[in-house]
Amino acid sequence: MRIANVENRAVVLVSDDRGVDVQEASGGRFGPDLAAVYSRWEEFRAWAESVADTTGDVVVERALLGSPSPLPRQVFAIGLNYSDHAKESGFAQPESLPPVFTKFPTCITGPDTTVVLPEGGNTDWEVELVAVIGKEAKDVLAADAWDYVAGLSIGQDISERVSQLRGPAPQFGLGKSFPGFGPVGPWLVTPDEFANPDDLELGCSLDGEEVQKGRTSELIFSIPALIEGLSRVVTLLPGDIIFTGTPAGVGVGRSPKRFINPGETLVSRIEGIGEMTQTFISAGN
Ligand code: ZN
Repeated sequence: MRIANVENRAVVLVSDDRGVDVQEASGGRFGPDLAAVYSRWEEFRAWAESVADTTGDVVVERALLGSPSPLPRQVFAIGLNYSDHAKESGFAQPESLPPVFTKFPTCITGPDTTVVLPEGGNTDWEVELVAVIGKEAKDVLAADAWDYVAGLSIGQDISERVSQLRGPAPQFGLGKSFPGFGPVGPWLVTPDEFANPDDLELGCSLDGEEVQKGRTSELIFSIPALIEGLSRVVTLLPGDIIFTGTPAGVGVGRSPKRFINPGETLVSRIEGIGEMTQTFISAGN
C-alpha cells in the first residue's frame, strides 16, 4: 500500500495519480492528516485494506505532494552507514551504532522542490532510504523491528559542508538543516510491498550524471538494527523519520570535490518507491 500526503491530507493511492481521501472514506475515523494516521497506525492499516482496491476519486498531482511525515517530532539521521561511504569520508567502518544526528524538522519538505543554495557554501547530495515509524518503540529487538515501521520513502540528506565541518569538531545538525534540505517522498510505501525491504537499489543523478548508486543491503546497520540501537536509548514515536545513511559518491568525497551549482537538478530514486526532484537556485534569485 502507498499513502501520500496531498495538501496535508492523507490519501491511500490506488494508482500513481489517483487515491482515496482517508478522512472522507473513513467517515472521519482516521485522518485528516498523516500525523493523525500514524497515531493510530495499526487500526488504520486494517481499515485501509478495504479501500486499496476501490476507484480513487482524488486526483493526485505531483505538485500537491508533501512529505509523508511533514511534522515529525523526531528526525534521526545516520552517518557512515555504508562502508564505501565511510571510506571516502576518511573514517573507519563503525562497529557500534554509527554516528546519529538530527536534521531539524523545519527542513523537511515534499518530494519535488526548489532549494536555495546557502551563500558561500558547498552544498552536497546524499540519497538515503527513509523509514517512518508507525508505533511507539522502546527497547525493541531487531527481530521485531519491522513491526514498528509504517513504511519507506526516499530522502535527500542535503548537506552544506562548510558549516558542517567548520569549528573545533564537525557538527552535522545545522549544516544539514537549511530550508528545504530534507526532501522526503514521493509517498510512503508499506514494507509488505517489497520482495525484500532490506535490499533496494538507490541512487541519484545530478544534471543527468549518475553520482550515487548502491543497494540498501550494503547498509552496515540495517533498518531493524538501527531501530534496535536507537530504541535502546530514545523512545521512537509514530511519524518519526530515520534517514538511514548514504552510499558512496557524495561530492565532498570526490577528487576533485564537486558541489551543487545554481541551476542544477538532482533526481533521487529508490527501487519500488519512485523518484523525486530538487532544483537548486542561488540565494540571489
Ligand atoms: Zn546522510
